[in-house]
Amino acid sequence: MSPPERAPATGLETRLAAMIENFGPISIDAFMAHALYDPQAGYYTTRLPLGARGDFTTAPEISQIFGELVGLWIAQSWIDLGCPSPFHLIELGPGRGTLMADMLRVCQKVPGFIAALNLHMVETNPALRDAQRTALGSTAASWHLSLDDVPQGHSFLIANEFLDCLPVRQFVRGEQGWHEKLVGVDQTGRLTFGLGPVLPEAPACAGAEDGLGAVREQAPGLGALVETIAQRLRFASGRALIIDYGDPTGQAGDSFQALFRHQKTHPLDHVGEADLTAHVDFAALISLAIACGLKTSGPVSQREFLQSLGIEARRDALIRANPHCESDLTQSVERLIGEAHMGGLFHVVAFESPLNPAHGPPIGL
Ligand code: SAH
Repeated sequence: MSPPERAPATGLETRLAAMIENFGPISIDAFMAHALYDPQAGYYTTRLPLGARGDFTTAPEISQIFGELVGLWIAQSWIDLGCPSPFHLIELGPGRGTLMADMLRVCQKVPGFIAALNLHMVETNPALRDAQRTALGSTAASWHLSLDDVPQGHSFLIANEFLDCLPVRQFVRGEQGWHEKLVGVDQTGRLTFGLGPVLPEAPACAGAEDGLGAVREQAPGLGALVETIAQRLRFASGRALIIDYGDPTGQAGDSFQALFRHQKTHPLDHVGEADLTAHVDFAALISLAIACGLKTSGPVSQREFLQSLGIEARRDALIRANPHCESDLTQSVERLIGEAHMGGLFHVVAFESPLNPAHGPPIGL
């Protein structure tokens, strides 16, 4: 069988290929960083990734119920922590602003919440910042390029499908030991995968039982992100809620993938035009948070999380109010909680400040 045809090289691919020919192969995380964040041609610098005309759809874009339940989680967390005032509500990678708009509709009903709120959106994509401004309407908010720029104080943080954009390195178990998977250039000048030399020792992410061909992934930026969240939660009370693609059991596997107009594509094609992601390593995420002095809850599946927050009751109430939308509502809730859909593939964890007043785990976890 001949290999599937590759899409024509983009300008960014040609630029990266020239760099690799001059300086040698690059790691997958370096490739992802260029493809996603190149200042002129990177995917997250230039594109509007979400929606029917974009490349992928996220939970808040599927149903308003998702944002409403996350809003309930935030409002309840604020109450659990004694209604700190003022406080920061921070969203990392807010997409089109749909999640925050749906959350605030619920939070507004909690007396004192809006008066105490400082809203912060951490977003690098200028087109998405505009979409977020539109979605928020008259609600005041500040925009930041990085979480480091958000002022300290009591903080509630939400990140949905944000961590899966973090560039990953990949390691492959060969006959002689572990190799790093690299991006090089083939004889026709196109980008191609290859393996680096045998590493002097197994990477820290390797599992003792990993056999020939096993692939392990590690996100070098994850530690720094968790440390930035921890620095904030070490100095004032607060919680963070993280929802993402990923398997919490720590199995080996290659999860690096590219989506172009809602279709999976070769990850080295459509460079700068396709969304690149890798699953979040929840085991690593939780151990990093604990090492930084945070308390953690979860992971639970998105299905368990949304069910315990009452997604089915909310769906049924919406159906009663809008009987003509029954089939849409049923289908979209199934996408959110179905085991074979997001319900089983996505997981949820929460981090807590060690300064939080004594309280059981947050709702849903
Ligand atoms: N949370 C949204 C969107 C997820 S897509 C939703 O659920 O619909 C990822 C989002 O993160 C986009 O808004 C993207 O522009 C943003 N993003 C990606 N990398 C980023 C970075 N390094 N810093 C800030 N925002 C980033």
